[in-house]
Formats: sequence, structure tokens, C-alpha cells
Amino acid sequence: MATNRTFTMLKPDAVEKGHIGAILEKINASGFRIVAMKLTQMTQADAEAFYAIHKERPFFGELVEYMTRGPIVAAILEKDNAVEDFRTLIGATNPAEAAEGTIRKLYAASIGENAVHGSDSDENAAIEGAFHFSGREMF
Ligand code: GDP
Ligand code: MG
Repeated sequence: MATNRTFTMLKPDAVEKGHIGAILEKINASGFRIVAMKLTQMTQADAEAFYAIHKERPFFGELVEYMTRGPIVAAILEKDNAVEDFRTLIGATNPAEAAEGTIRKLYAASIGENAVHGSDSDENAAIEGAFHFSGREMF
């Protein structure tokens, strides 16, 4: 069943570089409503679980180290067609291949340090949102 919510993280590189405000402004201007949001830091166990689907990939260790090295902004966003529209807004995984004007084109340094996460399906949006937020933190 299609839902109208997605889950995002502004990753440690985006927070370190001071891009929280600019990225949230772009998300807001693109018509997403913030349902839940917090500054938090993933533990190693959190990152290993969140990215478990990638555990056999050669970059897994690097990914876990990157995602745990500092705070992130986690958020649930609402909009019609949220998952697909947010993936369009963030652009390709590799910023070198991301379309002009996308968040990754503007703020990501590399395929590894790519500034922002966006869920890839309605099912994963629900799982990832629940990973970071309890029901009473969603508005
Ligand atoms: P996404 O859905 O666009 O975030 O991309 P994936 O699900 O394929 O990968 C998850 C995350 O792993 C990406 O956002 C990157 O942070 C990281 N990643 C993906 N591919 C690579 C890679 O080739 N090298 C490194 N170092 N990190 C990668
Ligand atoms: Mg993915």
C-alpha cells in the first residue's frame, strides 16, 4: 500500500559542514511537512542494523564508521508520493551523477559521504521511521 511518508537523515558530513538549515529549507520549499525530527547520533549497533542490507558490500565498514562519527538529523516527512519525490529531490547516490539542483549535487562530497538519506520504498520508510521514532514523537 502506498503511503505519503518517507524517512530521511541529514548525515554527519552535512551536519559537520553546517548544512542543516539549507537542506531543511530546500525540503520545506519542496512541499514536505515535518512529522518528526531530532538531532541524534547512531551507535555502531544502530548503523549496522539500519544498513544491514549492505553488510556484505565492500564499503560496509566505511559506511558504519561514517554514519556513527557525529550527530545526524533524523526526520519523517509527509507529502503526496513522498518516497519517490524525496528520492528525486536528493538525487543519485553518487553526487557526480546527481541532477543539477538536487541536495546531493549541492552538498555531497562523494558516493560515500553523500549528505542525506532517503528511504527507497514505502515499506522501508515505515521501518526506518520506527527505527528512530516512537509513536509519541510523530506529529
Ligand atoms: P542510497 O539509497 O542512494 O543512499 O544508496 P545505497 O542504498 O546504494 O547505499 C547506502 C549508502 O551507502 C549510500 O548513501 C552511501 O552513503 C554508501 N555507499 C553506497 N555506495 C557506496 C560506495 O561505493 N562506496 C562507499 N564508500 N559508500 C557507498
Ligand atoms: Mg538505499
